[in-house]
Amino acid sequence: MSRVPRIAIVGAGPAGLLLACRLHQAGLPFALFDADAAADARAQGGMLDLHAGTGQAALRSAGLFERFQQVARYEDQGMRLLDGQGRVLLEDDGQDGDRPEIDRGHLRDLLLSALPPDRVRWGHALHQAVLEGPSVALHFGNGTCERFGLVVGAEGTWSKVRPLLTDVRPRHAGITLYELSLRNVDVDHRALAALVGRGTLVAKQGTRTLFAQRNANAHVRVYAALPQQLAAGESAPVQTRASLLQHFADWHPQLRRLIADADDAVRPWPIHALPVGHCWTHHPAVTLIGDAAHVMPPAGEGANLALRDAADLADALCSADWRTAVQTHEEAMFARAAVSAEAAQRILVSGSAEHMLATMRGDDGRDSN
Ligand SMILES: Cc1cc2nc3c(=O)[nH]c(=O)nc-3n(C[C@H](O)[C@H](O)[C@H](O)COP(=O)(O)OP(=O)(O)OC[C@H]3O[C@@H](n4cnc5c(N)ncnc54)[C@H](O)[C@@H]3O)c2cc1C
Repeated sequence: MSRVPRIAIVGAGPAGLLLACRLHQAGLPFALFDADAAADARAQGGMLDLHAGTGQAALRSAGLFERFQQVARYEDQGMRLLDGQGRVLLEDDGQDGDRPEIDRGHLRDLLLSALPPDRVRWGHALHQAVLEGPSVALHFGNGTCERFGLVVGAEGTWSKVRPLLTDVRPRHAGITLYELSLRNVDVDHRALAALVGRGTLVAKQGTRTLFAQRNANAHVRVYAALPQQLAAGESAPVQTRASLLQHFADWHPQLRRLIADADDAVRPWPIHALPVGHCWTHHPAVTLIGDAAHVMPPAGEGANLALRDAADLADALCSADWRTAVQTHEEAMFARAAVSAEAAQRILVSGSAEHMLATMRGDDGRDSN
């Protein structure tokens, strides 16, 4: 029997694209599907800082690290932690940092550039995956169906591959982020540009948090995090800048301006997570990587873990029979994700500013890579 069967990768996010790059380089047979109509069908969102032991290592494994360095922003690694009254708890200018920032769109372009133009099969939203003996049938929303010997679910939080492995579904994590934008900050919002600095500002008081990230083109993305409890399938309540400001009424006026001076558009991100330590019984024909496997509250690790999962799975598939490879990859991924998920849960959902400070300083026992 062949060492590797025909492989399907479902989802062309960071995890799916990195895996595709590696399999392409290794000459292994695969198809890569994504629900989006095209690579540029939707904006990719804010920045990611890539960590040495996970995101950067994964790009290195695909021979993409030098090109990453050309587009990464080493100058935007600063970090400021404040409390709600504007008191600075931690200030790091990031000069010695090794967590360069990259816009998601640039990361996607970088990964796509390592694949032949026709390798991603856009417009293929997986509707259902069905086990048929040793293979898996993938039924797509466009009416097509294809069968594979190994299916890798890399299609994020609402994975349609996941139900083949587990009945566990992501639950609302008790928090919703509301995204706002400040544009052209170096000209139009100079005081806020200085407040945010070259990187990320986090202001935390109890369960309310404001994150402000400097992106490319002098664009600052602000996320206002509010505690909420949403039932399965329930949408997050709509918020305007005015209603958000009421939630931060007792905060320092300068911090409130991050909301008051932003554009009108407010985008909700209800945060869903799988349980910390989520795992499943191994199956030789199906596996998951990235958010599909271990979606957690965003605390700076999700995309890094997604890239590392993909690199590890590619390493395993290149060096062993696929049944062994899938199991080896899963065992390492379960252990790695559990540590990050526990820290993410603490930071975003239940942590105080002091708790976050300890985590950022590495005093919480988490591997900072
Ligand atoms: C507000 C916010 C801020 C974040 N900030 C950070 C950060 O600073 N650093 C960090 O490391 N992480 C961050 N994360 C987490 C990070 O975005 C994810 O962990 C990461 O994108 C996961 O990558 P992925 O490839 O597993 O999945 P995704 O990025 O979700 O990609 C999934 C892909 O699958 C496709 N897809 C979805 N459904 C289907 C389907 N049914 N059929 C076919 N294709 C499908 C999608 O179109 C997409 O291309 C943040 C998340 C949020 C919500």
